[in-house]
Amino acid sequence: MKERNGISKVHLRNDVVMIILLLVLAGAGALYLFAFRGSGDTVNVTVDGELYGVYALSEPRVEEIRTGEDGSRLNRLVIRDGKAYVESASCPDGICAAHRPVFRRGESIVCLPHRVVITVVTEQRADSPDIVA
Ligand SMILES: [Zn+2]
Repeated sequence: MKERNGISKVHLRNDVVMIILLLVLAGAGALYLFAFRGSGDTVNVTVDGELYGVYALSEPRVEEIRTGEDGSRLNRLVIRDGKAYVESASCPDGICAAHRPVFRRGESIVCLPHRVVITVVTEQRADSPDIVA
């Protein structure tokens, strides 16, 4: 009985080591993917599902996205340092303006009240294989 306990403890320890090893590997893999996940190079802006504009992240600019029937709804899009963010907006919730800058492919800033969606994309280029597709 005493011996069996000893054996099972050794087995248990091996299992724990195995699990920790797997977790570390999985964590490293996730970190690697996160750190080297492709940055996008372009932002698509859509308003109510319609394409409003396409802007390069490499070119700093300020774009006033005016929507609504009289253009009174404003989202001021700023592109700076390769990142895009909403500097200010006239929407009631202000969620879009509070959003952190986006620059990774697939990230987006959404202004629900104004139906504005700003999404980071990568223009298809022959020299940048896109395995995520
Ligand atoms: Zn908003």
